[in-house]
Parts: sequence; structure tokens; C-alpha cells
Amino acid sequence: MAKNLFFTFVITLLLFGCSSTGSSNNGTLSNSVRFTVEGDSRLISSNSVPDHNTGTFPNPNNPNTISGQKVLAKLPLNPQKASGVTAGSKTSEGSGYANHVRIIGIATNGVLMEPGTAERWDPATGRRTRGDAYKWSYDGLGSDGTGDFVGMDDYKGHVQPTGTYHYHSISERTNLFDSDSSQHSALVAFSMDGFPIFGPHGYNEAGTAIETMYGNWKLKNNGGARSAIDGQDPGGDYDGTFVEDYAFAAGSVDVAHLVAGDQSSILDLANGHIGKVPAAEMDKYPWDTSYLGTKDSTDDTYTVYHYHLTGNFPYMPRQLYGTEGSLDTGHQPHSHGPPPRKPPRGARGARGERRKDQ
Ligand SMILES: [Zn+2]
Repeated sequence: MAKNLFFTFVITLLLFGCSSTGSSNNGTLSNSVRFTVEGDSRLISSNSVPDHNTGTFPNPNNPNTISGQKVLAKLPLNPQKASGVTAGSKTSEGSGYANHVRIIGIATNGVLMEPGTAERWDPATGRRTRGDAYKWSYDGLGSDGTGDFVGMDDYKGHVQPTGTYHYHSISERTNLFDSDSSQHSALVAFSMDGFPIFGPHGYNEAGTAIETMYGNWKLKNNGGARSAIDGQDPGGDYDGTFVEDYAFAAGSVDVAHLVAGDQSSILDLANGHIGKVPAAEMDKYPWDTSYLGTKDSTDDTYTVYHYHLTGNFPYMPRQLYGTEGSLDTGHQPHSHGPPPRKPPRGARGARGERRKDQ
């Protein structure tokens, strides 16, 4: 099994975080991400500090401060698709569909991708709490897609109590997202099972045209009244507040949440499909040639299983079809750049020092 190891593949990006607006508390931290190959594995080490400005942290709905992390992902160079979902529950109701896969991948800028939250609805109080006994899981972006209730910034990211900045979706404000629907999106992330994740524009099923991809998850009961799960009923309508508001509906889409554009519904539970991807994007990184297969020279593509980001739920994969690699997130300050500044006076913890997973 020949591998693309002719070149030792090392990219080191040391970009100074922007602080031009003064609204970023990562202004004293620098983005760091490095790609290497070790045997059959792709190693990605990063500090999960974004290569772009961020919103203000802490903020009233997120009491945490960004700090450099020590992230090391070890992902297969030859990802293998299983016949069914391998990680993340797809059928069990309640407590989120994907909370078995907390970190689903890592973006090419080194920022971790964590679509879920630890927030649950407490039937006793009607307020947010945590714990697997509670069946309704708040989606990070919420029914309005903003994630304001957990202090999400305009880049669809926010901060864990550990100081880890992470994405819940990919915003058009980052250079990972593309709005050009005329050509295939770039490779913007790697999933924990080693597959590439592309932006929202991809080949249609026939491989003949580029379309905007949509997640095949739909509001239950057409957005009508919720039903209890295990006797727990938050009331109201299925509106996207909770992960449990959605069900996978192959061949159908969540029309209420569609953005304008073509409607393509070829993606599976995990926002993935087997289809053409641009060789120019794939060839930026080493792969096992048995995964890539033969390049189609007529349109310069490979045909592989891969995932997409979408503008509607689930926004990014929340389940996986391959075998997960390993992820080490030692919460040590990264050696690049000085330690994080103290938060601005008066900005800390308007609602107290809640220390929850975000
Ligand atoms: Zn695709």
C-alpha cells in the first residue's frame, strides 16, 4: 500500500491574531497549527486559537477566556467507511444525537469543531442544567441559528471553561467558508475518522454539476407541537432549540431552515456522501492512495467518501461513518505567544462564574 510520503509534509502556520477592533481577547495569542505524517496517520497539532478575530470573551452568556491549548489529533490517512454510523447515536431519543462524539473534527486552521453542548432542559425547573438524565439537549446555535444564548460570536465559535475556542458551525466570516456556489468548496477540516470535510458546495449525485448541499435533517412533525421523551416535555413546537427537534429524513430537507439556492438532499446522517471532490484540494494533503483511488483526469477529481458543512442543521457532521482516530487535548498553555491577558475589568462573569461545558 503505497503512501504519499515522498514529501515530508509539514506546514507551519504562525499567524498573529488580529486585534484591530479591540474586541478580541486573543489579540495576544497566535494561531498555531502544524500538519505532519507518522506512519499511517496524519498528525495535526494546534493550540485551537483561531487565525481570525473573535467576539468578546468572556461575555454575559459565556464566562470563559480564550487560552492556547495543546491539541494533538492523530487521524487515519486511509479512512474507511463502515456500512453504518460508527460513532454518535442516531436512533436513541434524548440527550442529544451526537454527544458520544463531542469533538467531531479539527478545521484546517487548527480550531476544534464541537457541534453539541452539555446544556439540557430540566423538567423540574424549566431551566438549563446538565446530565444524561435530562433528555432534551440544547443545540449550540439554537432555533435562530445565532447561538447567542451560549455567547457564540459571529464566527459561530465560543469558549470552553478550559479556554478552548471551538466552532459550532463555520461562519462566512471565516476564510473556511465560501459563498461561491459556482465551484466546489475547499477542504476546510478533517473529521475525527480521517475523512475530509468540505464547505457547502459539492458535486451532485451524478457528478455533473456543483450544487449547494443541505443537511437531510428535518424538524419533527413539520415544526408542530413537541411530544414528551421519557415523560419529559418542554412544550412548545419543534423549532430547532433542541437537537431532539430534528429527525433525519433522507431525501427530504428542513424547508423552513433552507437558505436560497439549489436544493440537494444527497447527504447521509453524518452530512457525508460518496462523490467527486477536487483533486487540487485533496492533493494539498497526503493520503493513502487506496483511499484516493484513481484520479479522473477529465474533471480532475477523486471519488471518495467525504463530509460537507451545511447552512442548515446539522451544520457539520455529528456522527461518523469511519473509525475514530485519537485526540489529545492537554489543556496546557501553548508555547507560542505570551499567556492570555486578564479579561477587561467589568467584563467578567456578569452572570457569575458558571463553569459548564459550552
Ligand atoms: Zn460532496
